Amino acid sequence: MPTPEFMPKPNSSTDFIRAIVEEDMRTNKWGGKVHTRFPPEPNGYLHIGHAKSICLNFGIAQQYDGLCNLRFDDTNPVKEEQEYIDAIKEDIRWLGFDWEDREYYASDYFHQLYDWAVQMIRAGQAYVCDLDPEQTREYRGTLTESGKNSPYRDRSVEENLNLFERMKAGEFPDGTRTLRAKIDMAAANLNLRDPVMYRIIHANHHRTGDEWCIYPMYDFTHGQSDSIEGITHSICTLEFENHRPLYDWYIEALGIYHPQQIEFARLNLTYTVMSKRRLLELVEEKLVSGWDDPRMPTVCGLRRRGYSPAAIRNFCKVIGVAKMDSTIDIQLLEHCLREDLNKHSNRVMAAMRPLKLVIDNYPEDLVEEMEATNNPNDPSAGTRTVPFSRELYIERDDFREDPPKKFFRLGPGREVRLRYGYFVTCTDFIKDEKTGEITEIHCTYDPQTRGGESPPDGRKVKGTIHWVSAAHAKRAEVRLYDHLFTKDNPNDVPEEGDFKDNLNPNSLEILSDCLVEPSLATAAVGDRFQFERQGYFCVDPNSTSKKLVFNRTVSLRDSWAKIEKKGE
Ligand code: ATP
Ligand code: MG
Repeated sequence: MPTPEFMPKPNSSTDFIRAIVEEDMRTNKWGGKVHTRFPPEPNGYLHIGHAKSICLNFGIAQQYDGLCNLRFDDTNPVKEEQEYIDAIKEDIRWLGFDWEDREYYASDYFHQLYDWAVQMIRAGQAYVCDLDPEQTREYRGTLTESGKNSPYRDRSVEENLNLFERMKAGEFPDGTRTLRAKIDMAAANLNLRDPVMYRIIHANHHRTGDEWCIYPMYDFTHGQSDSIEGITHSICTLEFENHRPLYDWYIEALGIYHPQQIEFARLNLTYTVMSKRRLLELVEEKLVSGWDDPRMPTVCGLRRRGYSPAAIRNFCKVIGVAKMDSTIDIQLLEHCLREDLNKHSNRVMAAMRPLKLVIDNYPEDLVEEMEATNNPNDPSAGTRTVPFSRELYIERDDFREDPPKKFFRLGPGREVRLRYGYFVTCTDFIKDEKTGEITEIHCTYDPQTRGGESPPDGRKVKGTIHWVSAAHAKRAEVRLYDHLFTKDNPNDVPEEGDFKDNLNPNSLEILSDCLVEPSLATAAVGDRFQFERQGYFCVDPNSTSKKLVFNRTVSLRDSWAKIEKKGE
C-alpha cells in the first residue's frame, strides 16, 4: 500500500524520551533501573490521548526491562468515582498492558503527605492562610505583575501547627483556610507564588470515606507520589512543564528521592475533542449514547466501534512522541485501523440496502453451498460455505436502470459475476411506477460458471458483486458512523459559541433492514468482519439472535465512489 500523504515521516529508531532513557542506562544514572507509571485521575473514561501515554509508559518499561505502575491520582473527592476506576483498568488491560500487583492510589499517601506538610510547617516552609479563594487570586498577581504577600504569611510555627491541626479536625468550613508553601510571591513562574498545598473540602472520598476534610492539591501530591514509588522517569504532558520547578521545590524541601520529569506533547486529533470535561458534557447532555458511544474517542468507544488494540498501539507507535504540540489527522488513525483489519478480519457478504434478484432459469428448490474464502490475506483463515439459491438480494447501488459508461455492475442486458456464485445476465426489472423505485431484478445464470469461474468460452465480465440468499439471510441493523464533529478543530468557535455547535448532525445513520449471510448468526459481540466491498464492521453489544446489530468500524478506501464519479 503506498504511504499516504498524512503519514508522518518515519522517525528514527528512537524518540527523545527513549534517547534519555538509553543515556541514563548507559551512565547507570538510576542503577540501570527503569520505572514509569501511568497516573490517570479517575474522573472520566480514558481516551485515545491517554492511550498514547499508556503505550509510552508501559512500552518504555517493557522495552528496557523495567516496571510501570498504575496510579490513580485521586486527590479530588468531588469528581471521582469507582465506575471510572473500573473502566480505566479494563481499558488498560484491553490495550494489552499489565501493571501486575502495582495498583496504587495517591489517596494511599494521604497520611504521608500530611506528615510532610507538618514537616514543612516546622521548617518554616508552609503556613496557614485565611484568604478566601478570590483574595488568594488577587494577591497572586499576574504574568506581568508580581504578587503580594499574604497578611498571614508570617504566622509562627506554633500557630500554623495549631491551625493546620484544626483544619484537619474539621473546625473550619470549606474555602476559609488553606495551607500554602512559603516560596516567593514575586517569582516569575506563577506556580511558585506560595502555592496552595491543602484545601478544606468536607466531602466523602471514594476510598478514604470521611477520614479527611482537608485534601492535598494535585501539585503537592504528584511529585511526592512518584518519589514514594521510586519512579525513575516521570513522563507527563507539556502543560506540566512549568509545574516542574514546583515539584522540584517540594522534593528538595522534603529531602526525598527525586525522579526525573520529562514532558511530551499531548495527542490532538482532527474532528475530535479530547478533554474529559468536554467528553463528559457530551455524555451528560445525552448528545451521545454514553462514554462507549462508537463515535467517541474514548478507548471503550473505539472498542465498541471495532478498533483492535493492535491498531491503536500501532497508531501510537507511528505518531511517535515529540516536544511540540500538534494535531494528528484522524485519517492516520483510520489508516492504522484498516491495515490491521485488512490482515485479520474475515470477509463476509451483506446487502446493506437490499434489492431482490430472481434467477429465472435456476431450479426453484435447489440450494447450493458455495465455497468462499475467509481472508485472501491469510490462508490459515480457511473457507466457509454460503448458500446460493434462486432468489437473492444484492446491493441496491449495484444496479442501474441506465448505467453510466464506467459502471461495471448490473444493468439491463449486462452480465456480472456474483462472487463465489455464477455469472448472471439481467433480463428484466420491475419498477414501482409511482415511486420510480426498482423493486426486483430478473436474471438468467450460466451453469458453466459455478463458483464464479469464467466459462469455457473464455467470456469475461468486468464486475463482481456480492449477494445473500433470500431464504437464508439474517436480518441486521447496521449503524454507519461519520465524524462526531463537522470541523477539523471543533474547539475553534466564536467567542459566544460552544464546541457543541460543531457537532455533526449526520454522524450516525441507521440502516435497519440489512441482510447478512447466515454464517454471521453465530458471531459474538466484538467480532470483526469485512463486509465485502463495503468496509469493516463489528458486532455491537446490542446485537441479539433476533436482530443482529453491526457497527461500521471504518469504510474501505472508497475506490468505488471514484469510479462512479468518473463514469458520470
Ligand atoms: P484531560 O485533559 O483529557 O482531562 P488529563 O490530563 O486531565 O486529561 P489524566 O487522567 O490526568 O487526564 O491523564 C493521565 C495521564 O494521561 C497523564 O499523564 C496525562 O498527561 C496523559 N494524557 C492525558 N491526555 C493526553 C493526551 N491527549 N495525549 C497524551 N497524553 C495524555
Ligand atoms: Mg490531569
